[in-house]
Amino acid sequence: MTSPDRAGTSLSRALTLAHTHRVAHRSDLTERLGLTRTATGLILRELETLSLIRTAVATRADTGVPTIGRPSHAVEIHPDAPTVLAVHVQATSVLIAQARLGGVLGPVDEVPLPARATPESVLGLIADLLSARLVTPDRPPFGIGLALPSAVGSDGTALAAHHLAWPHAVPARRLLTGLLARAGHGDVRVHVGNDANLAALAESRHGAGQGAAQMLYVMTGQVGVGGGLVVDGRLHVGSAGYALEVGHTPVPRGKRPCRCGNRGCLEVEADPTALLDAAGLSTTEPTLDAVRAVIARRSVDPSARAAVDLVTRRLAGGIASLINILNPDRVVLGGMHAELLAAEGKRLRAGISRHSFLDQAARVELRPAELAASALIGAAEVALQPLLDEPRLLV
Ligand SMILES: [Zn+2]
Repeated sequence: MTSPDRAGTSLSRALTLAHTHRVAHRSDLTERLGLTRTATGLILRELETLSLIRTAVATRADTGVPTIGRPSHAVEIHPDAPTVLAVHVQATSVLIAQARLGGVLGPVDEVPLPARATPESVLGLIADLLSARLVTPDRPPFGIGLALPSAVGSDGTALAAHHLAWPHAVPARRLLTGLLARAGHGDVRVHVGNDANLAALAESRHGAGQGAAQMLYVMTGQVGVGGGLVVDGRLHVGSAGYALEVGHTPVPRGKRPCRCGNRGCLEVEADPTALLDAAGLSTTEPTLDAVRAVIARRSVDPSARAAVDLVTRRLAGGIASLINILNPDRVVLGGMHAELLAAEGKRLRAGISRHSFLDQAARVELRPAELAASALIGAAEVALQPLLDEPRLLV
């Protein structure tokens, strides 16, 4: 007889395995859980009762006829499983979408940020966007996940949203929860995280990090460098939530001044601004398209070649330092770093080997990020996490 606690843990494990695409059939689940077929059947029945998982007898795709012999039960996310709302504050706009278990995003709406993007105006806009979506004839969203371009503490405080010019330590979760309560939505749980951390979580569970035990994610969009470390499916957040500010990793021979007060951080040595500066194309709006144009010209334009070489070396130095400290089994690169991996993969790998004292650094897998809206998917992940941890919350 399985004890209630043990069964609760198995429910969580079964739901998490289905959510992260690691089981397709009931037999996979039985094997993964290490339970008998009967015990797995009980777990599945409870998850079906909660409308979280659905099992279906697999059929021959061509005829729809059940397969011969012992039927193979496909395990899938229930179509009526709860949804969450995910929000990502970017440099000039807010993205919002509904999301469901399995890392599935609904249509993404993009709304421009207010002209003066103060904490009050941005969080007010988000509260309005959420309120409009919380009033629904269907089952209300289970929770809300918010991805911010800032280091975010475990208490939901945005410590340093430099790119939005927010003041130090904005209590984002408390402010947003208060705004929603005033709009009559005081019972919905709000989760807040750093956007690159959340993107790392999403890539680990649904993208290029699947199957890795310790996945390091490093990315750059327009300004600065972010990332995260996911260990056994969970973000490593440190004691107060601020761990893995990978952008402030010192880079060998780096000299450029950083907003943090140091010099030579990965943040300023290997972002689009650094590449465009090195190519003699200083701009106030560094875009991925401008970066791609420089990378494309590198075989015919010596200044583009020199810029790509320099930033690839700097990136390699930063990644090597992180590998030395963290010893991940896979490194996933996003944004401009994924472009450099595609264009200069050999040079990047050689640079990492040169700068890392760990022999195995040369064998650490480098992969480009796969997800289009990874921070949004990651925001949904943290909103879904209480349910993944305790599926009986729905009872
Ligand atoms: Zn720095």
